[in-house]
Amino acid sequence: MGRILMIGAGGVAGVAAHKFVQNNEVFGDLMIASRTKARCDELAAKLDGRGVNIETAQVDADNVPELIELISRYKPQIVVNLALPYQDLTIMDACLATKVHYLDTANYEPKDTAKFEYSWQWAYHDRFKQAGIMALLGCGFDPGVTGVFSAYAAKHHFDEIHQIDILDANGGDHGYPFATNFNPEINIREITSKGRYWEQGQWIETEPLEIKRQYDFKEIGMKDMYLLYHEELESLVKNIKGLKKIRFFMTFGEKYLTHLRVLENVGMTSIEPIEFKGQQIIPLEFLKAILPDPASLGPRTVGKTNIGNIFQGLKDGKPKNYYLYNICDHQECYREVGSQAISYTTGVPAMIGTMLMLQGTWMKPGVYNVEEFDPDPFMDALNKWGLPWHECFNPVLVE
Ligand code: NDP
Repeated sequence: MGRILMIGAGGVAGVAAHKFVQNNEVFGDLMIASRTKARCDELAAKLDGRGVNIETAQVDADNVPELIELISRYKPQIVVNLALPYQDLTIMDACLATKVHYLDTANYEPKDTAKFEYSWQWAYHDRFKQAGIMALLGCGFDPGVTGVFSAYAAKHHFDEIHQIDILDANGGDHGYPFATNFNPEINIREITSKGRYWEQGQWIETEPLEIKRQYDFKEIGMKDMYLLYHEELESLVKNIKGLKKIRFFMTFGEKYLTHLRVLENVGMTSIEPIEFKGQQIIPLEFLKAILPDPASLGPRTVGKTNIGNIFQGLKDGKPKNYYLYNICDHQECYREVGSQAISYTTGVPAMIGTMLMLQGTWMKPGVYNVEEFDPDPFMDALNKWGLPWHECFNPVLVE
């Protein structure tokens, strides 16, 4: 039976914990450890146990010796990092020191620069390999399922994939004038950064939200979507051979963008420290503190998400287009695990990746992205564990 240490007790961790407990044929022991122990205890109280032994602990995941002490004491088989991207490297260091496998859903980001890339975590590959342990990076939905979809399309539908467009649509409404669906600090850093896409062997940079398209999403309808840089672009460029172009689009409503522009214009999204009443504060951290907690949006959010990849390429010498996507209903997620769909679509793949590692289906020493493994068992598990996928063979393409 699997013994898991999960770090973090926020929106995504809440869903993953429910899924670990539902999957009690695979998982037997779960430790929930986070910065604020009360949140771990609150989460543990919501899980009915169903055969899974749950413990909680306080840990500062920025502190490697504290992590090593906790891992050595609990002796998990895998550490599942559902804290923030800032903690990826410290948790990987602790896993190396204790020789325990690692999984996360977002790539490392230094706190003082709004910049994310895989290089820092890929640099651990040889050390993980030598230690005989594995790290699975970016095992949420995007990144995560979008990489699995790419591996599945490459395996079953194409001889060559030339273009991938990843489309992330959220048709949900939480009724607040402004709130983010996952950690506000990480979310706003991502959206206010420059856009970037890859074409013909080079990265092309855009101003933030400069490229806008419209798309008619199944079960959501017509939405404005904007080109963003997203971390799976970096790993898919490396791992999907023959790729000529890859872009990532996310939908935003006019109201959300107007709020964001105002907050940006007045300096509230800045990560430069300022002096306030004799104390140094970071405006974006302060903004996070006053915005609604994403974990609290569940009961209020209605509507659906639709996230997927449109592939263009060649099969048997002929051009082929193919769209793989998932639709997730915010209220159904809330009824099942008490959370909205953004946390749900991230927490479920985190559980599935952990399960496949534990069962040895996805297991090789080193540091890997999801698209480097056989997609089939993951695709089956998505259907089983609440994120069924759909395919379309004549999708409307994005201009
Ligand atoms: P939340 O802010 O809701 O939760 C983060 C949790 O991490 C909180 O419990 C927080 O503790 C804890 N934490 C933060 N810092 C530390 C620390 N130093 N030590 C220990 N615990 C800490 O975030 P989400 O659940 O929304 O997001 C979790 C992760 O999932 C993020 O990395 C995010 O980027 C990623 N994500 C990935 C997606 C994907 O599709 N791949 C989509 C959405 C999110 P406290 O309660 O004290 O604040």
